[in-house]
Amino acid sequence: MKRYAISRDGAQNSGDGVLKAVVLAGSVLWLMFCTASAARADWISTMVRYERNLSSAHAMAVGGAVPQDQASRRGFDFSFLTRRVKGKRSLARIREPLDEAELMVAERHAGMNMAAEIRAVERPALLELRKYATIESGDNLVKILKQQGLARSDVNAINRAVDGVFDLTKLMPGWPISINLDASVEPGAPGRLISLHFEPSETVTVSVERTATGFSAHRDETVYVEELMIASGTIRDSFWKDARAMGLPSTIIANAIETHRCTTDFSKDIQIGDRFTVLFDARLTDDGRIVDSPKIHYVAVDTRGGKREVFRFEQKNATGYFDRDAKQACATAFSLMKAPLARPYRMSSPFNPRRKHPITGKIRPHRGVDYAAAKGTKIFAAGDGVVTAKRTHSGGYGKHVIVKHNGIYQTLYAHMSRFPKNLRVGSRVKKGQVIGYVGTTGSSTGNHLHYEIKKYGKQIDPVKSKLPRGQKLAGDARRSFLIVRDNTLDMIDDAKPVVGSDS
Ligand SMILES: [Zn+2]
Repeated sequence: MKRYAISRDGAQNSGDGVLKAVVLAGSVLWLMFCTASAARADWISTMVRYERNLSSAHAMAVGGAVPQDQASRRGFDFSFLTRRVKGKRSLARIREPLDEAELMVAERHAGMNMAAEIRAVERPALLELRKYATIESGDNLVKILKQQGLARSDVNAINRAVDGVFDLTKLMPGWPISINLDASVEPGAPGRLISLHFEPSETVTVSVERTATGFSAHRDETVYVEELMIASGTIRDSFWKDARAMGLPSTIIANAIETHRCTTDFSKDIQIGDRFTVLFDARLTDDGRIVDSPKIHYVAVDTRGGKREVFRFEQKNATGYFDRDAKQACATAFSLMKAPLARPYRMSSPFNPRRKHPITGKIRPHRGVDYAAAKGTKIFAAGDGVVTAKRTHSGGYGKHVIVKHNGIYQTLYAHMSRFPKNLRVGSRVKKGQVIGYVGTTGSSTGNHLHYEIKKYGKQIDPVKSKLPRGQKLAGDARRSFLIVRDNTLDMIDDAKPVVGSDS
């Protein structure tokens, strides 16, 4: 009952007041007769009903107290309930439930505002209730619409309309769908859709609107402008944040980082003061916002460790990024050496899984290669990797080191005389980095390196197997690449700088 306290705002009776009361009474009748079917009861329709109650309260006040206080009539703009929202940020805001106090304020003022709206009886404003749903796995449009309480015939008509402009089997989980319902329907009655829309991609919007005869669906596609652009700057925080600050979308930043995946760790190798350059085909909205990039041509980072550049090069079967010298940016990062030690050395025993013991004649497989070399000869990591074992005495291997390179390869180096200082289990090693010195520890009859390569956990012949090698372009491919590289360098001068670029 406290809701009716609003009538206490009422001032003294007057001719004007009576007129308004009559208008109000008329509008209440209009509301009662004009409202169609109703949706599920939720707080907005509760409010709508409450507004009517308020109007009734005023109507009952005919001949008695009618509100006249102008100050109290400023009302409360509750268009925030029904406003059309665009963009996901505002969507999230709207989704937040109002707290109880806000709701009370809205309720206290709603009646006034309603009265003002109702005065324009000739063209009554339709109260819209906007809802948001997220498409979930297994959902289809029919199911979603049914959940909104729409009439079966409407659901089918809407579905048919959408089907004409969009392949409904392509509806993906996670997409938001925004549904605009008539808020004036009574609780319990079928919901009445005014419009709905969803965005199958960043460029496409599918919308449905109620028409006089049924529903019409539209598919709108945003047309983007493409332009060659360059973003260059100095690291002030991190590449990610600095590039974001320039307005590069995260997809472009992630792809730029990806081009350097094997050469640069953007979280460790890049420091404040380093410089970066990204040359790309930008896809822009007509107001100049960069949306994404179908092609990144060039990414350079200039660090204390030197300048690292990659150039995009498209080939028949693969497109990749190569350095200035036509070496593939990624493949170079992993290759294995057949003989990971300093010269001079000579192979003293080959890989032979069926080797017979010279005296007993029993099979004693040799699952590695032996390289004889002078004591103290440097042993190198055969490829980039992480030291997973460094053992001083372990059976026949003596002092040995195991390096894990990736999910496929690991290498073992045995019979060492000693390890370098600072080498630890967990140390990252680069190809060619010294990880030990030739010796004859363990079961060994002379100074040599016993070298094993395991591929998927099984030893392979280090000499005869095809080992990963960094791809370097040769012949025609190299000549084509060099042309592309020089064109790319020219493009840097022609590209339009992204706002905030410092070049
Ligand atoms: Zn051996």
